[in-house]
Amino acid sequence: ARLALPGIRELQPYQAGKPIEEVERELGISNIVKLASNENPLGVSPKVRDALAARISELARYPDANGFYLKQAIAEKFSVSTKQITLGNGSNDVLELLARTFVTPANEVIFAQHAFVVYPLVTKAIGAKPVAVPAKDYGHDLDAMLAAITDKTRMVFIANPNNPTGTFLTKEALEGFIKQVPNHVLVVLDEAYYEYVPQDERAPSLEWIQHYPNLVVSRTFSKAYGLAGLRAGYMVSHPAVADLMNRIRQPFNMNELALTASMAALEDDDFIARSVEVNRDGMAQLIRFCDHHNLPYIPSYGNFLTIETGPDSQALFTKLLHKGVIVRPVAGYELPNHLRVSIGLPQENDAFCNAMAEILNGQ
Ligand code: PMP
Repeated sequence: ARLALPGIRELQPYQAGKPIEEVERELGISNIVKLASNENPLGVSPKVRDALAARISELARYPDANGFYLKQAIAEKFSVSTKQITLGNGSNDVLELLARTFVTPANEVIFAQHAFVVYPLVTKAIGAKPVAVPAKDYGHDLDAMLAAITDKTRMVFIANPNNPTGTFLTKEALEGFIKQVPNHVLVVLDEAYYEYVPQDERAPSLEWIQHYPNLVVSRTFSKAYGLAGLRAGYMVSHPAVADLMNRIRQPFNMNELALTASMAALEDDDFIARSVEVNRDGMAQLIRFCDHHNLPYIPSYGNFLTIETGPDSQALFTKLLHKGVIVRPVAGYELPNHLRVSIGLPQENDAFCNAMAEILNGQ
């Protein structure tokens, strides 16, 4: 262990939600409802299933190392050039690629307190200095993040909306921030939950790249597109940034099925619309429950709601688990009094609300 980079020795392994089957086996119960990993409760779109089925016979061959057709589809849909796109094995992969391309152990990387755990992870993995800036109202304190920039800063991560808080920065606030970030610092705008943001509130982030070449934007197929299990994400940047990332990217980092499914998913606007609608209704359902029981929550723009459940949140998590509902403790995000609940189907949200109500009634 002494041979490892100091930053790596300090790292804690990423705590992912356990697969449902494993929890069912451990607890000896079935019909578990998992609202723990911000997955799409509608599952995989039928159009994607068909596209995947038709592709199985090709799996003896290597995938297209450059993802030509998927890049073309993304470029057309979002009016960017294919030269601006880097594909990844999930957006985590492109976030890491970016850090490996630009950050050295002499650098500092800035992110907000309560921000997505992969930011400190990729920073420490490189041996660079992580700079966590205290949150404001659970969200990013952009002024404090600007003030934290030094000559050594190479990247600032902004998750919009953020996970696990669901907090959101307006386009005005964001552009005001990006304008002031010096050129030697990359602004990494992580838009994993972009599709859940109402159209009129979305930032024209991809257009901004033309004015701010140090801005990069990551998106994913894991959330609204319903493909978390396939691992597919991408980054849009200035072509020079994409060119550099492409040099260290593993060829074939996006597999044949991920390429195929992502392309079919991009075309399936109805599925995205339904996913967003189910999310909106489910969010309202959980908020009604919280309001009824006087449970404070952090207003969320994502597909999850982080609820202030008090100092016994770990015990509450376990009680919910034994009632067959898996949610996500967020103590590791310096939110020890909260639990994060992903929005599910109406009956899944009901299962959470009923289990919570029983626990609140002492049952
Ligand atoms: N960014 C944020 C803010 C996230 O919440 C997640 C998923 N937990 C990701 C990126 C990564 O998602 P994926 O690697 O599945 O694309």
